[in-house]
Amino acid sequence: MQQTCAQCGSSFEITDDDLKFYEHVSPVFGGKRYSIPSPTRCPDCRQQRRLAICNEFNLYPGKCDLCGKETIVQFEPSDTRTIYCRDCWHSDKWNACDFGRDIDFTRPFFEQFKELRDSLPAQGLDMQGNVVNCDYIHYAGSSKNCYLIMHADFCEDCYYGYGFKKNTSCVDGFYNLHCELSYDCVDCHKCYHLVGSQECLNCNTGAFLRDCIGCNNCFLCVGLREKEFCFENEQLTKDEYKKRIAEIDLRSYAQYQVCKKKRRELELTHTFKEFQGHNLENCLGNHLYNCKNLRESFDCEDVEDGKCCYQVVLAAKDVHDIYQYGSNLQASYECAISGEDSFHLRFSFGCHMGCSELMYCFYMEASRDCFGCAYMQKNHHCVFNKQYTKEEYDALVLRLIEHMKQTGEWGEFFPMSLSQFGYNKTSAQMYYPLEKDGAMKISAAWSDYEPPPPQVAKVIPADKLPDNSKDIPDDVLHWAIQCEVTGKPFKITPQELRFYRQMALPLPRRSWYQRHLDRFHQRNPRTLWDRKCAKCSASIQTTYAPDRPEIVYCEDCYQKEVY
Ligand SMILES: [Zn+2]
Ligand SMILES: [Zn+2]
Ligand SMILES: [Zn+2]
Repeated sequence: MQQTCAQCGSSFEITDDDLKFYEHVSPVFGGKRYSIPSPTRCPDCRQQRRLAICNEFNLYPGKCDLCGKETIVQFEPSDTRTIYCRDCWHSDKWNACDFGRDIDFTRPFFEQFKELRDSLPAQGLDMQGNVVNCDYIHYAGSSKNCYLIMHADFCEDCYYGYGFKKNTSCVDGFYNLHCELSYDCVDCHKCYHLVGSQECLNCNTGAFLRDCIGCNNCFLCVGLREKEFCFENEQLTKDEYKKRIAEIDLRSYAQYQVCKKKRRELELTHTFKEFQGHNLENCLGNHLYNCKNLRESFDCEDVEDGKCCYQVVLAAKDVHDIYQYGSNLQASYECAISGEDSFHLRFSFGCHMGCSELMYCFYMEASRDCFGCAYMQKNHHCVFNKQYTKEEYDALVLRLIEHMKQTGEWGEFFPMSLSQFGYNKTSAQMYYPLEKDGAMKISAAWSDYEPPPPQVAKVIPADKLPDNSKDIPDDVLHWAIQCEVTGKPFKITPQELRFYRQMALPLPRRSWYQRHLDRFHQRNPRTLWDRKCAKCSASIQTTYAPDRPEIVYCEDCYQKEVY
């Protein structure tokens, strides 16, 4: 069945399997199923709406409104909501039920939900699990000694990473899973000691590799399988390789850039497979690992029976329209930042740690059977944070669903007007960039706030830094470097300086967020184009747009081609 998107007007398909799924995740009260209608927006507009409530990168100094402790927060200084530090938020010094309120059936649901949510104390940052010495991590958990890692879990000694899972001593990366000692890597999986590499699996010690699997000691290579001592895709002896490597000093920023450029040149002579993934059965998307029956999805690991999933890892099943994060999420639909042993979550955000049977909930932990609730822990049978008996709850929810059908809200995720952040400060701006008036047109907010620059002894323009990091004194820790792209000053931390020296790497000349954007742009967009295999002309769906310079093969042709 073809449907016209209510936001962008494009045509999208709703399949019979989709309809079955919506039925499957629809809530049941008193033995009767209350069907979730099929979506009114196309998959991209749905993903944009989920992203538009996630501020993953803009963090500011703030203060806990309960204990007064200085703490880092995701909200701008002008935000008037109550903000608690992690300890206070999880303490028994306050009770989310105290904020409970009645439903006004003469008004739309979402505006009442926004009033409720904004009356409650919010957590400064989103962290879960056992977190040790990590003051600056967000949408992250169970980590130790990390700094500025987002969408990250089970990491140790990692800095400036996005999409880090089970990584140790990794710096500057985008979507690296189970890696150790990696720097400036994108989409690397189970790798050790890689630098400036992309889309590699099971590689050990190498630099500037792309699409390599099971390689050891290789430098500037593309598309290799199980190789050792290769340099620019040429097989050398161990001694020859060591000699070539010794001639390269990656502590030099100029040298590092030359290598990066060479990797790109080499890539364009290579063939790419229609999409990146390993150990897949009936899957479509990009960067999928160990998945089965997962369609139109990106950056997922261990997911079975899913569609339109983005960054869902560490296991999920029966899930559609999920933006982050998985960890055993089941039978859930239209959620963001949710998972961890949770099931039957619908139209919810930030629900995890054993949540179930939630609808229209926002930041819940270990709660079940709640509708339209926010910031609750270990609660059940609540509506608008107010406690009911099971019978009262069922009756009230049914009335509320009928009400939301009248207002056109039932079956829709939280609208952008409910976001706590300007559109331009959210991850929606990365994937669906808009100007201010474009954001206004879709009822999203905008923020013109710029945080003040760091207080430092001196600011040194990036191009005035010595080329080789060995010539940069420890004093750099007291300066700020002026980003060569944005002109914004940024600081180097002692732990990252130690890492660059240990790994013999150059110092960055771009701010960490600019570096993140650079890596983001190295990746293909999350769009599937129809294209023909450059070898056999079979029809393929790929994230390589037809006008891109890369040579793209179908899976079969590619497997015959790899060396
Ligand atoms: Zn649309
Ligand atoms: Zn506090
Ligand atoms: Zn082919």
